[in-house]
Amino acid sequence: MSFIQQLAKLSRETLKLRLYSTTPTQVEAAIVGEQGNLDHLLALLSPAAEAYIEPMAQRAAALTRRRFGYNIGLYLPLYLSNLCANECDYCGFTMSNKLKRKVLSAEELAAEMAVIKPQGFDSILLVSGEHETKVGLDYFSSVLPQVKAQFSHVAMEVQPLSTKAYDALVARGLDAVMLYQETYDPTTYQKHHLRGNKRDYGYRLASPERIAQAGVDKIGLGVLLGLDDWRMDALLMGHHLDYLERRFWRSRYSISLPRLRPCVGGITPKVQLSDRGLVQLICAFRLFNEQLEISLSTRETPKLRDNLLGLGITQMSAGSRTDPGGYVNPDAQLDQFEISDERSAAEVVKVLRQRGFTPVWKDWEANWIGAS
Ligand code: SF4
Repeated sequence: MSFIQQLAKLSRETLKLRLYSTTPTQVEAAIVGEQGNLDHLLALLSPAAEAYIEPMAQRAAALTRRRFGYNIGLYLPLYLSNLCANECDYCGFTMSNKLKRKVLSAEELAAEMAVIKPQGFDSILLVSGEHETKVGLDYFSSVLPQVKAQFSHVAMEVQPLSTKAYDALVARGLDAVMLYQETYDPTTYQKHHLRGNKRDYGYRLASPERIAQAGVDKIGLGVLLGLDDWRMDALLMGHHLDYLERRFWRSRYSISLPRLRPCVGGITPKVQLSDRGLVQLICAFRLFNEQLEISLSTRETPKLRDNLLGLGITQMSAGSRTDPGGYVNPDAQLDQFEISDERSAAEVVKVLRQRGFTPVWKDWEANWIGAS
């Protein structure tokens, strides 16, 4: 059974009712309960759990320490292109925005990497808008070996592809794919994705299964917090994660919890997620899954990022630019969204060390996990 079929069997109304009628006793049981229990995740995401942030944070910190120690993985996004054939009303790259559009040439990519590499990064996230014809499989196939020659861990955050295409990219060195559903509510999804291939909710939802079938080592899920009820979106992402982990247990999983940020021509969030709500979310997922990698981007402020460190975060970007070519020639007009933490990688590393954490520049390498 595919995840789409499994999701169709769930009653969203019932889940929502249960979320909003969770009792303190159910939250208390979930905090000390076993991991991997979706009923417990529901309780931990509920409004009733807001009164239990402190004990949730204590257990989340202890579980994170047991599994990940004091290590924080560092990575950098490298934007390949801001060309996009989709209309998403929350994104600066949306097709109708009158932006300067750009696709990095091999020379420009080399120049970007020459700025990034000396900062210490060995793990890179290649990002692009979704433009199948100009920034599709051929382009990715040509840039991957160039990037892999410099970085031992290469992740991508681009349009969803076929299993065959993922197979081809794995053969060229692809280690991880981040593909965010944005929202699990089909009506809200249609409302914000107005034109282009991304309107196909089902194709996107089935993508992590295709990624896993191609043997990608790490798969990242995510929702854009602010598009819809974040408790429901997070809960359904938990169901998705649970489905994938049970069937595709050879892959590692990560989640990303981006809050909607301002961008050129963008919408304001329908639902505001407070800092405290973000803490609840991170702790809920850590209590649900000790192995899960949780990533926090530079969308959040330095103060919040520093304070969230011990609770469950395992990966951070630092010194990011969200415009193609931005490490060599920063150009705010090409940005996907505004970032909040503008500190350099060296400054973030300094704070990590001051707080007793170990910055880790390298993710797992294929050779270490038995892949060829
Ligand atoms: S969110 Fe992605 S697909 Fe949508 S406009 Fe932005 S870059 Fe394009």
